[in-house]
Amino acid sequence: MRTVEEHQQVVAGLISARPAVSVPLADALGLALAEDVVAPLSLPGFDNSAMDGYAVLAADVATASAENPVKLPVAEDIPAGRTDLLTLAAGTAHRIMTGAMLPAGATAVVQVEATDGATDVVSIYSAVPEGRSIRRAGEDVTAGMTVLPAGEVLSPAALGLAAALGFAELKVIPRQRVLVLSTGTELVTPGTPLQPGQIYESNAVMLAAALREAGADVVTAPATSDDVALFRETLAGHAKNVDLVVTTGGVSAGAYEVVKDALAHDVEFVKVAMQPGMPQGAGRLTDTPNRTSIVTLPGNPVSALVSFEVFIRPPLRAAMGLPSQRPRRSATLTEKLTSPAGKRQFRRGVLGTDEQVSSYGPPASHHLRWLATANCLLDIGEDVIELPAGSPVPVWDLS
Ligand code: AMP
Ligand code: MG
Repeated sequence: MRTVEEHQQVVAGLISARPAVSVPLADALGLALAEDVVAPLSLPGFDNSAMDGYAVLAADVATASAENPVKLPVAEDIPAGRTDLLTLAAGTAHRIMTGAMLPAGATAVVQVEATDGATDVVSIYSAVPEGRSIRRAGEDVTAGMTVLPAGEVLSPAALGLAAALGFAELKVIPRQRVLVLSTGTELVTPGTPLQPGQIYESNAVMLAAALREAGADVVTAPATSDDVALFRETLAGHAKNVDLVVTTGGVSAGAYEVVKDALAHDVEFVKVAMQPGMPQGAGRLTDTPNRTSIVTLPGNPVSALVSFEVFIRPPLRAAMGLPSQRPRRSATLTEKLTSPAGKRQFRRGVLGTDEQVSSYGPPASHHLRWLATANCLLDIGEDVIELPAGSPVPVWDLS
């Protein structure tokens, strides 16, 4: 049997970054920058008013008070966006709005609340020091400065900064494109009636969501039966223009193992010393132009999602330049646990705020209910067969 680490390496070897591309800012959220962002201009781009008020020479209003206002003729009215270049003459004021370009010569802005707000001759009720309520050019960003380094994962604020600097697009590491294909003659699409012996198909929507949450672009093929010809046809029809194919089901030791039967030449089918998720496969599709990578997960829903967490999510995110590991830490087990010898076990768990962790639901791989509300995986080593209550146990924080 392969160890978990060995199979992780095999899968990681199948997943690599796509070449960097420029994308519109609106499509760049959550992607990693492929190159430094260097400011082509300064922010603010020009001295401007931080307040609605009056641009003045501070010296002209040095004696102003509520009792003895200074009266100045209002020579100009400057709303934000006015583009002509103005000069303030001594002994006058310009009415000015927040963000409007400061007229040359002005040394301060008196906010409107300290005036009578007049538009012909304004009464100013308080003195202001030089520089008051002026935003200086370049005090936020200086042209030529690296504002976002390559590798930065783009946040809403980073996109705002890029837009403020005039970028319409940014060069990023693109999303991985992943095809999800589930198999099983017993599977029925949710929303249609079930016959006895049939079950609703649940892996595709779950894995597609997990892949999207991990940052991938996902295409979901219609589930196939355990018919090798139909499986091959579905795969061939959908595996174009993707970087990775993920299948579920049909890789165990029974009969009608469609994925195993169809892909014997492309995929290495192995047993991994883990629970859940022992039957695994990984390889490349020889029939596709780029020999598309494929990872074949077992069909049991818990096995499929745990296998995704253990084998696919980390290298997939690494290939997008995103943090690849779930936060891991040690928590204190609330009750005794047993674990099979020779297998690394990933139990679903609930991690409390007090760093206590409880195992959640049975270890078997068909129990979706507990999986649905677990917030961590307990990572129990191959050699561990029993963990007493109070033991430290490594957990992967899925929240
Ligand atoms: P398999 O790996 O194909 O042998 O399937 C193992 C178990 O998982 C069986 O009980 C299947 O019915 C179930 N299973 C396989 N694929 C799916 C799926 N897409 N949705 C829900 N259950 C599935
Ligand atoms: Mg099956």
